[in-house]
Amino acid sequence: MQRLENCTAVVTGASSGIGNSIAARFGREGANVVVADVRREPKLDDKRSVFDKLEECGADSLFVETDVTDETAVEAAVDAAVDEFGGLDILVNNAGIYYQYEAHETPTEDYDAITDVNLRGTFLCSKAAIPELKNSDNAKIINLSSIFGLVGGGSSAAYCASKGGVTNLTRQMALDYAEDEINVNALAPGIIKTAQNVEWRENDPEILADWEEKTPWPRFGDPEDVADAAVFLASDESDFITGDILSVDGGWTAQ
Ligand code: NAP
Repeated sequence: MQRLENCTAVVTGASSGIGNSIAARFGREGANVVVADVRREPKLDDKRSVFDKLEECGADSLFVETDVTDETAVEAAVDAAVDEFGGLDILVNNAGIYYQYEAHETPTEDYDAITDVNLRGTFLCSKAAIPELKNSDNAKIINLSSIFGLVGGGSSAAYCASKGGVTNLTRQMALDYAEDEINVNALAPGIIKTAQNVEWRENDPEILADWEEKTPWPRFGDPEDVADAAVFLASDESDFITGDILSVDGGWTAQ
């Protein structure tokens, strides 16, 4: 028995990086997967798109071009999942963007963009999905917070503000929907090797050294590390876990 058999999942930002791995992993566990992203092709030079991976494991999938900051588009993505697969069980609020600035140097439009995608997007997608999730026997919301949603760091004022918001939105939604048996949890990844940070990893030795020093485990994370944790939070193995923020950070926040 696969762990997500008969489940339908919407994963936002699933064409690239962590979302791509989560979507592919969900497919391997038997889920139908709706990829809700602004793009179809992965950002890095990954030859295999999420759809190649989903096809390989025989999962049913659907691409819905979705900007998570657009309420109408988000509602359309949830409707498409229900129309195609007959319901919705799992929402992964993964779409996110990251810029590095100290607070006083942050262009206000970048602050707005980061909080719009990371926090408001999580809110809008949850709002659209919850009425459908209430009809599911395995209703799960998994939000992508971050180590920077738990502690400060990295000259990332706007990002920390947005992910701190995601952390506490997770806790409050867990309380609001416990009666409905919708589990709401978050993942807080550390440094995961994706397009989001490739520029710094490859071209900024100072930041690279700082990240290495703050990661006790002797490597950075791979998207698959986060996908493994997401499968657990999406499956019935986590039924009594709600409002939790699960760190996947090689020990960054243990210090
Ligand atoms: P990524 O490789 O940049 O992938 C993010 C995907 O989301 C891209 O396909 C991106 O498309 C899409 N996207 C961006 N804005 C969107 C929007 N408004 N609506 C729908 N899709 C949108 O990022 P990642 O590293 O996998 O990060 C995934 C999540 O994990 C994010 O929430 C991130 O903050 C969080 N996280 C990442 C790390 C890390 O080290 N990588 C650590 C902690 C937390 P475009 O690029 O075309 O915009």
